[in-house]
Amino acid sequence: METKGCNFRIGNGFDVHQLASGLPMWLGGVRIESEVGFVAHSDGDVAIHALCDALLGCLALGDIGHHFPVTSDDFLGIDSKILLRRVVDLIEEKGWKVGNVDITIALQAPKIGKYVPQMRSTLAEVMGVEEDSVSVKATTTEKLGFVVRKEGCEVWASALIYR
Ligand code: MG
Repeated sequence: METKGCNFRIGNGFDVHQLASGLPMWLGGVRIESEVGFVAHSDGDVAIHALCDALLGCLALGDIGHHFPVTSDDFLGIDSKILLRRVVDLIEEKGWKVGNVDITIALQAPKIGKYVPQMRSTLAEVMGVEEDSVSVKATTTEKLGFVVRKEGCEVWASALIYR
């Protein structure tokens, strides 16, 4: 892919997962202490899924569902960190490097603030970038919508890559 004269590309990603009791919660590559977890084909790490879509979007490479289809048993229960690494490999194979990423997680409960440093270091390690290139922010949605009703979690991610 050629973008003449441009050595930077940006992308954004969005994902939502439903919450259900009795499932493990993985978020930002970290196991969260919680009575509820995410309904999913993979481990349900909605933050990593949004991040993968942001990175894929940088090079117009489609979305995570295209690369890792839910119809494939290969990805049943898979650790999303493996998916993230594969996405970064894809970008690096095309001659680009991850610059920085910024992730916003909207979740009512459990409170995830104390996990943010671990998410940043985990995601940085998986992507092979410095921790200060990985931003993770947690928010709620001001008493509105399915997040506040504790039915689900939504995540937005932005990514910048360079060559
Ligand atoms: Mg997902």
